[in-house]
Amino acid sequence: MSARLPVVVGNWKMHLSLDEAVTLARDVAERAPGGVEVGVAPSAPYLGAVAQALRGSRVGLSAQDTHWEAAGAFTGEASPAQLKGVGCRYVIIGHSERRQLFGETDAGVAKKARAAHDHGLTPILCVGETLAEREAGRTLAVTLGQLDAAFSALRPEEAAASICAYEPVWAIGTGRTATPEQAQEVHRAIRARLAERFGAGVAAQVRLQYGGSVKADNAAALMAQPDIDGALVGGASLKAAGFLDILRAASQGARLP
Ligand code: PEP
Repeated sequence: MSARLPVVVGNWKMHLSLDEAVTLARDVAERAPGGVEVGVAPSAPYLGAVAQALRGSRVGLSAQDTHWEAAGAFTGEASPAQLKGVGCRYVIIGHSERRQLFGETDAGVAKKARAAHDHGLTPILCVGETLAEREAGRTLAVTLGQLDAAFSALRPEEAAASICAYEPVWAIGTGRTATPEQAQEVHRAIRARLAERFGAGVAAQVRLQYGGSVKADNAAALMAQPDIDGALVGGASLKAAGFLDILRAASQGARLP
């Protein structure tokens, strides 16, 4: 298996005041351990200020969403060119909250993934099933369907450089985490599907994050799984101490060359 540097990104969603966001960014930037790639995703109005706070550090800036067009009459939206211009390295695409609350579709996710690469952003492509879908035995059908769409407009080298986050919807913000074995089963299937589509070499390079109530006390066991290469963290990324514990767990479990 090729070595993959773990990548952990904190999704701050629509939380924090400006001061809190800048303070948290500074804390993470100063104290993030080596051996793990780190990103934080503040809400859009804070991107510029958080970019300043992260300047000179190893911590990357992430947007929480993007439009697919480079510019235009799209009130309320931000383009990938604008996000790149303000200092973003990553962009989260297809988060379940976007899908469930704001009508995000697989077709939109595919266009956004294409646009992210066109503008030098690393997409974090989110996939995952609802509780009803899991209970109906449709976990892999739903997740792999979303995966196929998210990667549909990418060339192999772009796929290899993308991040995919498996986030079972029933585990997001609920305190209910997938067991390491449940998560690994889906991660293994995701990597196998990527191998079918792009070849084993590409599939071995794609970093697969787990997301859904990751905390300091479950992060190590999740990231010890062979196909789990990091985490997308919501609630536990809002306090520096807890997020830094997750980063240390990722760093200690790193499968480096
Ligand atoms: C998320 O929103 O991507 C997420 C994983 O949230 P939480 O960690 O709070 O479940």
